[in-house]
Amino acid sequence: MIEIKDLRKNFGSLQVLKGINLTIHDKEVVVIIGPSGSGKSTILRCINYLEPPTSGEISVDGLSMNDTKSINAIRMEVGMVFQRFNLFPHMTVLNNITLSPIKTRHISRKEAEESAIQLLQKVGLEDKKDAYPEMLSGGQQQRVAIARALAMKPKFMLFDEPTSALDPEMVREVLDVIKDLAKEGMAMAIVTHEMGFAREVADRVLFIDEGVIMEEGKPDDLFFHPQEERTKLFLSKIL
Ligand code: ADP
Ligand code: MG
Repeated sequence: MIEIKDLRKNFGSLQVLKGINLTIHDKEVVVIIGPSGSGKSTILRCINYLEPPTSGEISVDGLSMNDTKSINAIRMEVGMVFQRFNLFPHMTVLNNITLSPIKTRHISRKEAEESAIQLLQKVGLEDKKDAYPEMLSGGQQQRVAIARALAMKPKFMLFDEPTSALDPEMVREVLDVIKDLAKEGMAMAIVTHEMGFAREVADRVLFIDEGVIMEEGKPDDLFFHPQEERTKLFLSKIL
C-alpha cells in the first residue's frame, strides 16, 4: 500500500532523513516513536508530499510520487491529522467537514452533508454540527479534525501526535476514535508516545532515531525486549 525506498530529506545542510525504507501494508497499523527532532513528522509530511523528498521513492497504492501528476491523487488517498486541530475557525463543524469533498471531490452539498453527519456520529459529535470550533473542547476539535480527514474517503491515515496538545482527560476519547478506525481495517501510521495505546492498536512499532529506523518490531517485543541501546535509553525515559 505505501512503499518508501531510501527516503532522504535535507533541510539545507541538515540531513533529517538518512535513508528510510518502509512498507506499510493494507490494514496495517504502524506506530512511530522516537526522540523529538528525530524526523518522525518529516516522514509523515513526505508521505503526502507536504515536504518534497530530497531523494528516494515513495509510492502510495501504486501511485509514484516521482510522477508529479500523481501527487494530487496521493493527497486525496492519504488523510492527515496533526497535533493542532487546524480547523477553520470561521466555519461550522459541518462546513469544516464538507468543504474539501465539495471542492475537490465534486460531491454535491447534500451528499457531502449526509456523509459528514454519519462521520460525526462515528466520532460521537452528531449534536455539534452547527457549532464553531472555538465552542468545542480540544478533544472534540480533534475528533472533528479526524472526521474531516475521513470525509475525503482516504485509503490511508497519518496521525502526527494527535493527542499531545490535549488535556489528559481528553486523550482517551480521541484514541478510541483512532482505535475504532484500526478495527475497521484502515491502514495508518501514527506518531504517538501513548504506549498503552500503541500496544492496543499497533501491528508494528518503529523506533526512529536521528533520521534512521533504528529498530522495529511487534509492540511487546520492542517495548519490553528492545535490542538496541538507543531504544532502551529512549524507552527508559518515557515508560
Ligand atoms: P520530530 O517530529 O521527530 O520531532 P521533525 O521531523 O519535526 O522531528 O524534525 C526533524 C528535524 O528537522 C529537526 O531538527 C527539525 O528542526 C528539522 N526541520 C523540520 N522541518 C524543518 C523545516 N521546514 N526547515 C528546517 N528544518 C526543519
Ligand atoms: Mg514531530
